[in-house]
Amino acid sequence: MDVDGKIAVITGGASGIGRSTALELARRGADIVVADVNDERIAEVQGEVEALGRRYLGVHCDVTNDADIEHMRDAAISTMGQVDIVMSNAGVAMIGPPEGLSMAEWDWILQINLYGVIRNVRAFLPHLLERGSGHVVNTASVAGLFAYSWDHPTYITAKFAVVGFTEALALYLKPLGIGVTLLTPGLVETNMGETARLGGVDDISRWIREIPLETPVPADAVGVLVADAISADRYHVMTHPAEASAKMRARGQDLDAFVASQIALLPMPPNLYREG
Ligand code: NAD
Repeated sequence: MDVDGKIAVITGGASGIGRSTALELARRGADIVVADVNDERIAEVQGEVEALGRRYLGVHCDVTNDADIEHMRDAAISTMGQVDIVMSNAGVAMIGPPEGLSMAEWDWILQINLYGVIRNVRAFLPHLLERGSGHVVNTASVAGLFAYSWDHPTYITAKFAVVGFTEALALYLKPLGIGVTLLTPGLVETNMGETARLGGVDDISRWIREIPLETPVPADAVGVLVADAISADRYHVMTHPAEASAKMRARGQDLDAFVASQIALLPMPPNLYREG
């Protein structure tokens, strides 16, 4: 797809990876709709997109809310004329042990990170299918390719589901003329720490352990990768291709051995019940 002259909608587009993609697509000639809950940052991105000479619509939109998504979709299509690129990217993180997390805590993360993606894709699909063109980008994580640690069970669960949903979408949409891209970032420098929550435990210091992480990449680099994938109609985008590919290969070859190697690699979690 030639991005020039296209219209892109990005949830969570006011910050981090979403903002970086909005700006890169605007640089390449796209008009931008940002759907986010952070009004201050929605306004900041407006200035940045308009400085690039592109049209911009910022909508306060909570991806957990059906009416918000439908209102945003209608506003995007009526203001911009049509929508070509739909990036479902809004996401949050939660640390917490599976035995302590309440169902309300599970619901918080699954509503944003999983149902938020499904809700947004579902809202725009009829519009894309009617025209038999367009591109869907879903932001998952390396956490959706393998369980990278024991301290983010909610996050890993949501991201595995986004990976499955996106793969199923690719099988369905590709033959119908609609491109699909799965973004699985490793560590990226963004504002995600601001919205992250601790679930199921009161004292984070007793729970957090040092977990080896890859070198973070700047958010600005990710928008370029996403825009390149849309232009080239590529499915999988990684920020840390060497590390993620090696893990996926090992996981694909022998799941028993892979899980055992991950357990051996990670420091032991505290047993909060036994340790008192
Ligand atoms: P970020 O916090 O900088 O940006 C996320 C944006 O989503 C924010 O503007 C926030 O206001 C918005 N948002 C949060 N809840 C929302 C809701 N209910 N409705 C609408 N908008 C909402 O973080 P980021 O790192 O750019 O995250 C973008 C995506 O990338 C997320 O899906 C995240 O899981 C994924 N990701 C991030 C990393 C990383 O290391 N930063 C790694 C892998 C995957």
